[in-house]
Amino acid sequence: MTDRKRELAANLAKVEERIAAACAAAGRAREEVTLIVVTKTYPAGDVRLLSELGVRHVAENKDQDAAPKAAECAELPLRWHFVGQLQTNKVRSVVGYADVVQSVDRARLVTALSKEAVRAGREVGCLLQVALDAGASERGERGGVAPGGVEELAAQVAGSPGLRLDGLMTVAPLTGEYAGRQREAFGRLMDLSTDLRRAHPAANMVSAGMSADLEDAVAAGATHVRVGTAVLGVRPRLG
Ligand SMILES: *Cc1c(COP(=O)(O)O)cnc(C)c1O
Repeated sequence: MTDRKRELAANLAKVEERIAAACAAAGRAREEVTLIVVTKTYPAGDVRLLSELGVRHVAENKDQDAAPKAAECAELPLRWHFVGQLQTNKVRSVVGYADVVQSVDRARLVTALSKEAVRAGREVGCLLQVALDAGASERGERGGVAPGGVEELAAQVAGSPGLRLDGLMTVAPLTGEYAGRQREAFGRLMDLSTDLRRAHPAANMVSAGMSADLEDAVAAGATHVRVGTAVLGVRPRLG
């Protein structure tokens, strides 16, 4: 085993231990939580090692990095999640490799995703990214639909050919009423998920929690955690 593979294996084991402990503390079965490893800024070689170590879900946040990486790893048994801000001019490329887009946050993006998914003959899973920091939405910052907009956007996804409504995603807010209160933020996302599932029972994915706060997400009821630095190390550049 190479040093890098040994390092990734050790990190994965630690993350696995944390998820298992969080599940046990919450009275949840370990199988209820899926680990998605966020490989952004790391090379395709690391993705390959992770695949050899049993990882089945990876996530990327920038199409220009993700597209060549996904192409290099095309034969690996991986599901690719797109978790970054997505511009409509990148949608055609992203639909070429992403199984799930977790950052669906506006009507124009849904329209573009549907068009390209149909064109490619693919079904793309969609999570609505919820912005729990109301201030951020009001300031016009990108990245998430406000809680009040979830129902309408969900209906649009559910009615769009080529798309499958899978659930909700959030990133714990750094500002606003939930700043420093990850547990409460993730609890709010769970409430929104409960509401969503009344109209869309199959949309039961809840993606929340990263390296620093995966325990809070598991405690709240997340089905998917997105872990980058705790597996791969501190990123060499912002991403
Ligand atoms: C980078 C990223 C993660 C992983 O963050 P870490 O702190 O490195 O675990 C999770 N979700 C999204 C949307 C990200 O961009």
